[in-house]
Amino acid sequence: MKASELMAPTLREVSADAETISQQLLLRGGFVRRVMSGVYTYLPLGWRVVRKIEAIVRREMDRAGAQEIMLPILQPAEVWRETGRWDVYGEEMFRLKDRRNRDLCLGPTHEELITDLARREIKSYRQLPVMLYQVQNKYRDELRPRAGLIRGREFIMKDLYSFDRDTAGLEVSYRKMLEAYQRVFTSCGLTFRVVEADPGAIGGHRSHEVVALVDSGEAEVAYCDRCSYAANLETATSGSTPKSWPGVNQGGKPKLVSTPGVKSIEEVSDFLGVPSWQTVKTLLFIADGEPVAALVRGDRHVSEFKLRRVLGAATLAMASDQETERLVRTKPGYLGPVGLNGIKVIADAEVPALRSVVVGANQEGFHLVNVDPGEDFIWDEVADIRIVQAGDPCPQCGGPLATVRGIEVGHLFQLGTKYTSALGAVYTDEAGREQLLVMGSYGIGIGRTMAAVVEQHHDANGIIWPVNLAPFQVVIVTTNQRAQAQVEIAKELYFRLSKLGWEVVWDDRDERAGIKFADADLIGYPIRVTVGKKVEQGQVDIKLRSEKSDTSWSWESAVGYIDGLLQDSLKALSS
Ligand code: ATP
Ligand code: MG
Repeated sequence: MKASELMAPTLREVSADAETISQQLLLRGGFVRRVMSGVYTYLPLGWRVVRKIEAIVRREMDRAGAQEIMLPILQPAEVWRETGRWDVYGEEMFRLKDRRNRDLCLGPTHEELITDLARREIKSYRQLPVMLYQVQNKYRDELRPRAGLIRGREFIMKDLYSFDRDTAGLEVSYRKMLEAYQRVFTSCGLTFRVVEADPGAIGGHRSHEVVALVDSGEAEVAYCDRCSYAANLETATSGSTPKSWPGVNQGGKPKLVSTPGVKSIEEVSDFLGVPSWQTVKTLLFIADGEPVAALVRGDRHVSEFKLRRVLGAATLAMASDQETERLVRTKPGYLGPVGLNGIKVIADAEVPALRSVVVGANQEGFHLVNVDPGEDFIWDEVADIRIVQAGDPCPQCGGPLATVRGIEVGHLFQLGTKYTSALGAVYTDEAGREQLLVMGSYGIGIGRTMAAVVEQHHDANGIIWPVNLAPFQVVIVTTNQRAQAQVEIAKELYFRLSKLGWEVVWDDRDERAGIKFADADLIGYPIRVTVGKKVEQGQVDIKLRSEKSDTSWSWESAVGYIDGLLQDSLKALSS
C-alpha cells in the first residue's frame, strides 16, 4: 500500500477531550474518529487492527471447539420480559419501537437470545456440550462513556455461550475458556491478570475477569505474589489485621467527649490522639428503601459492593445529610453505633475484636471514647464488608497482598441455570428425563482490547504495535521522493517483502523525511526501512519501532534480516 493512497489522517494536535493515552494516540494516528459520545468510526488502520484481534479470538475460540454464529442485534422485548431483565437493565438498554408499536431493543448482551435459540434447538444430551460465539456490535447507553474505545456505547464484543448437561460439564467448558482467554491475551502482547470477580447472586458459581494492567484503568485488583490469589478489589477478601491499642484500656463505661467541628476520622484521631484504627466508622446507607448502618475500623473503607451483597439488596446508596438527620438526628460526621435504635447494623468482621474505641456520639460536636464493641453496642450481622488494602494478608497464604489497576478486557461467568430455568431451556438425558441446560457466558471487548494494547505499548512518539496486531508490519520511507534511485530500491524492497507475506506501506508522499518519520512512529509500524542518500552505495537503514537507533544494511540483505526479525517476533507472541 502506498501511503499517498492510504486513508491515515494523522494529527499533530492532541484532542482536548481525549482522556487517555490510547484515545489520544488512536485519534492522532488516524485509527479512529469520534462520531458522538461513546460512538466511534474505525478508519482503515484501526479496522485492520480490529480484524487482527478478531482473528486471534476466532482462532482460539475455534481451537476450543466453539462454533461461530450471528445473532441479531435487534431483539424483541418478549424474551427479555421472560427473564425479567427488560426492567432490570434500566437505562443502559437502548430501546425502540417498530411501526406496530412493538417494544424492541438493541442487544446489550445476548444471554436471552442464545437461550431462546437453545430451548428451540437443543433437545437431547447427544447435542451437548455445545459452545456458540459471535463477534458483533453491542449497545449500552453507558452512564459515563469514557476513554474512547474503553467504554463505548456501541462496541465490538466477542460473546460466547456454553451449554452443558450439568455443572461438571460447565466446569470443563469454563476451564477451556479460561485457557483460551490466556492464549488470546498473551497473543495480543498484553500483560494481564486473571482475577476472581463477583460470583453473582447465585451461590457457588464462579466468575473471572481478565484485567490488562494499566495504571489509568478503572478496575482495581488485589493479588498475592506468594500464591496465585488475585481478585477484583470489589470482591477481594483478606485475612484480618488485628491491631492492639498500645494505650491503656480504661475499662468501664463509654465517656462523652466534646469534639467541636471534628468530623472526619483523621480529624478525630488527631484531636484525640488515637490511631485511626482505634476508631469505628459508622456509615449510613439506604438499601432498597431501608436504612442500614455499616461499621468498619476507622482506617478502612466500606465496600458498597460487598455490603449490597450481604444485604441481598437491589439498590444501595449512601444516606444524604437530610436522611441522616431525619433518621439519627445528627450530622454524618457524628454518627456512631451506640443507641442506633431501629436501624439494621452490619459490622465488618474486624470490628468485634476491637476494644476501647472512639465512635461518633450521634450528637453534633461529640464523640464517645472507651467504647467496647459487643458490650456498648451490638449489631445484626458480622460480615466482610471492607475494601482490601495493599499489605493486608492474603486470604489463601497470608502473604502480603498488593493492588494494581487495570482494564477489564475479558469476563467469564458461570451462569448455571439462571437463564435456562427462566426460559425453560431443557434437554432430555439418557434416562429420558428433562434436565435444565447448564450455561456459561464469556465476553471479550475487541475495541477495549485494542485500547489496552496501546496503553501498554507506546512511547512519547506514538504506538508500538506488537507485530501480529500492527496494521502493517513494515513502512518504507523514501526521504526524497524525487531521487530515482530511492524510488527504485523502495519499490524493489516493497515487492520482495510483500512476496514474503508481510504487509508493507511505502511512504511515497512528497513530504519531508521528518514528517514521514513522525508519522511512522505515531502509527507504530514495527519496522521502518529508510531509503535515503546512502542508497547510492546500496545501503538502507533499518529501525525497530521499539528501539532508538537504526542499523545499516545492504538493501538486498535487508529483506532477509527483516523477515527474520518479524518471524522471531511472531514466534514470541504465539501462544
Ligand atoms: P464493565 O464492568 O467494564 O462495565 P461489564 O462487566 O459490563 O464491563 P461484560 O458485560 O462482562 O462487561 O462484557 C464483556 C466484555 O465486553 C468486557 O470484559 C469488556 O471487555 C467489554 N465491554 C463491556 N462494556 C464495554 C463498553 N461499554 N465498551 C467497550 N467494551 C466493553
Ligand atoms: Mg458494564
